[in-house]
Amino acid sequence: MNIHEYQGKEILRRFGVATPRGFPCFSADDAVRAAQDLGGKVWVVKAQIHAGGRGKGGGVKVAKSIAEVREYASKILGMNLVTHQTGPEGRLVRRLLIEEGADIRKELYVGMVVDRGTQRVALMASSEGGMDIEEVASHTPEKIHKIFIDPVTGLKDGEADGIARKIGIPEASIPQARAFMQSLYKAFDECDASLAEINPLILTGDERVIALDAKFNFDSNALFRRPEIVALRDPDEEDPAEIEASKFDLTYISLDGNIGCLVNGAGLAMATMDAIKLYGGSPANFLDVGGGATTEKVTEAFKIMLKNPGLKAILVNIFGGIMKCDVIAAGVVEAARQVDLKVPLVVRMKGTNEELGKKILAESGLPIIAAKNMAEAAEKAVKAARGE
Ligand code: GDP
Ligand code: MN
Repeated sequence: MNIHEYQGKEILRRFGVATPRGFPCFSADDAVRAAQDLGGKVWVVKAQIHAGGRGKGGGVKVAKSIAEVREYASKILGMNLVTHQTGPEGRLVRRLLIEEGADIRKELYVGMVVDRGTQRVALMASSEGGMDIEEVASHTPEKIHKIFIDPVTGLKDGEADGIARKIGIPEASIPQARAFMQSLYKAFDECDASLAEINPLILTGDERVIALDAKFNFDSNALFRRPEIVALRDPDEEDPAEIEASKFDLTYISLDGNIGCLVNGAGLAMATMDAIKLYGGSPANFLDVGGGATTEKVTEAFKIMLKNPGLKAILVNIFGGIMKCDVIAAGVVEAARQVDLKVPLVVRMKGTNEELGKKILAESGLPIIAAKNMAEAAEKAVKAARGE
């Protein structure tokens, strides 16, 4: 799950990480009031969308007067912001962050991610902040410094100081940089984040260390115990199909292909998408209905897939283990009854109650294309999607 920059900064402040002062705003009047409350002579008007690259896309503007705050706020609110992360369709800006301007001497980078290999949180830092860290990683990887944090001790003083020196933080600011990174790690750990990225982290003219940007991702498997994080969800920034799916505890990810996939088990779902690709097709979604799916859940899964206007075929691939084939079959029939099924439906079923499942499908009178194995199912779905 993602949140906005201003929400990320609120979390950072709670854990003692230095950030500029600022307020979220929903209108130009709001923005002017925020700037007046902040005081000072320079403000930054920042588009709040769940994507980076806003600066280059025109979503971050430095205002030198209240009139400019109003002008930029009016311009950015409601704009369709296109960045390298939004794709060409862009993202509508509905919220702003108005911040006090910062005196930037140097832009640096600090990021944390869960590293599966070491089963630790990896801290990455670089002297090259403010730009695409992916660029730095591919062209000058020696400029990215990395350590893996021991979950028992947390980020040690020596580790933090070492990395702060490597990215060029002056001696006088080392204690601040240390506190910054240790607090960031605490925030990461206690909020069950899967990624935290401060790009840029800045060194100010008076040698303070401040988070100028904040990007967080949270582990959705931990949201059940983080209601305060769930409350930060912005449905405008999320895929409606994925929100709908989460209500029914379905693992669903929208993709840009045209073959809907209904599968039990994440591994089988991935393999099914690979098989579709192998035969020259493209999946419209990843969907794992899980091991304990009920007829109702399967029906909802079907409805969600069918809402996609670009859908050309559906492939149901079930390996009946704990999940029984007849339950899936009943769900498919029920969904087809409730929703007018206009696309070809390919079904491959194996395992527990396979015969009963096939009987239910056969007796339903639905025009189902049966497949004996996965390869045949994928091939038939790709052909069906092409109208062959
Ligand atoms: P992103 O482009 O979506 O990653 O948005 P950022 O929050 O990183 O902002 C992009 C850039 O805008 C930063 O790298 C800074 O160079 C600039 N910027 C952001 N806030 C300020 C500020 O307070 N003062 C000045 N002068 N520049 C800022
Ligand atoms: Mn940034």
